[in-house]
Amino acid sequence: LWQYICDEFKGKLSSISFNTWLKAAKPISFKQKTLVIEVPTALHKDYWKANLSAQVVAMIKNSINQEITVIVKLPTDPDPLQKAAPISKNEAAYRQEQAKPTFMRETKLNDKYTFETFVIGKGNQMAHAAALVVAEEPGALYNPLFFFGGVGLGKTHLMHAIGHQMLTNNPQAKVKYVTSEAFANDFINSIQTKRQEEFRQEYRSVDLLLVDDIQFFADKEGTQEEFFHTFNALYDDKKQIVLSSDRLPNEIPKLQKRLVSRFKWGLSVDITPPDLETRIAILRNKADADQLAIPDDTLSYIAGQIDSNIRELEGALVRVQAYASLTHLPITTSLAADALKNLKLNGKSNEISIAVIQDHVAKYFHISLSDLKGKKRVKNIVIPRQIAMYLARELTDASLPKIGQEFGGKDHTTVIHAHEKISDTLTTDNDLQRAVADLKAELKK
Ligand code: ADP
Ligand code: MG
Repeated sequence: LWQYICDEFKGKLSSISFNTWLKAAKPISFKQKTLVIEVPTALHKDYWKANLSAQVVAMIKNSINQEITVIVKLPTDPDPLQKAAPISKNEAAYRQEQAKPTFMRETKLNDKYTFETFVIGKGNQMAHAAALVVAEEPGALYNPLFFFGGVGLGKTHLMHAIGHQMLTNNPQAKVKYVTSEAFANDFINSIQTKRQEEFRQEYRSVDLLLVDDIQFFADKEGTQEEFFHTFNALYDDKKQIVLSSDRLPNEIPKLQKRLVSRFKWGLSVDITPPDLETRIAILRNKADADQLAIPDDTLSYIAGQIDSNIRELEGALVRVQAYASLTHLPITTSLAADALKNLKLNGKSNEISIAVIQDHVAKYFHISLSDLKGKKRVKNIVIPRQIAMYLARELTDASLPKIGQEFGGKDHTTVIHAHEKISDTLTTDNDLQRAVADLKAELKK
């Protein structure tokens, strides 16, 4: 079985990938329709889970028509087919400690999230400035300060930075950082253990309260009620409150009106995705901090690959670094390309890219990619082109201008037109329906 799997992969992967991922893996057992594979590092495990395991399942399904499960483990992981071992005393004690409400624990700020390590760019300039003002003059100007914006854009980083800065200015200050969920858990816990007084004392005696991701207050009536009182107490005492969310307060479903209106008393600033220059600067900073020698063009390449989320950007750099150390090769642009190829970061492995759509459509209609993306106006090319644009619109999150750009720099109105044309024709044309259905099925595989 293993030999078969290896042979199949040999045909599919580049030799560098094959040597990295397959040679290092070994089959441990195959029982109860479960294939257990052991790999040497956590990176191997991630890569296997994200990319290879599903391919193995598909291979076995195709060849012997059996649904198997693939489990990838590290040498230190327990045998997955054994019953879970009882947890040790230490582990139990640790879990108990972790389960304690945070008002009975120290909340620690992340040392890496400071103003020094924060790179300023167009998308976060205003948020950064507001954060600095609040850290220097808490409670005076913008209360509450409210950050909103998509995931991985630096909201949490800025909140910690405010906390650090305030403690630097005044080591006696009492700073508390919690996520909205931790706040809710604390609150519920305090009721269950009849320690509401302690809870209130803890939250209402701080100089700076940072509550992260308050969109998770939605639907938590009692917690909102309690937070309302916490907010009022701190506000009246001129203590600084900083909040964050993935959207504006009035867009958070089921957030009480009186909270929404209070959140608007201060300043709301949004953080938008970084432009290419900022992304490069962030990577340069990280690379320098980690003392990695990476050429500029390689950093630009990585920054060009990941354009929305800074956490993913950092993840990509880690991948490239790990890949280089596994293969004992210096970090270059082509190595980076290899490391990031196939590797959809952060669970986005099901995401379909425009390039993949173009590839499939061109093959399906037997035309060249350059014709598909080009300007020729003959029917047997125009229709596949419109279908590809239609699929790009339907199956990806890409914006209209982005799609236009991927099709040889066409205007977004061309994309709108293509989408409408195909949608209309689909209602009447059976051949088109079949082609689109086939392509969708193929792409979703
Ligand atoms: P959010 O809370 O908005 O989801 P985070 O604050 O957790 O995002 O940021 C995600 C990662 O990106 C963190 O590791 C953070 O340090 C890093 N990061 C975000 N913005 C910047 C920036 N402007 N400069 C440097 N690192 C950043
Ligand atoms: Mg966050």
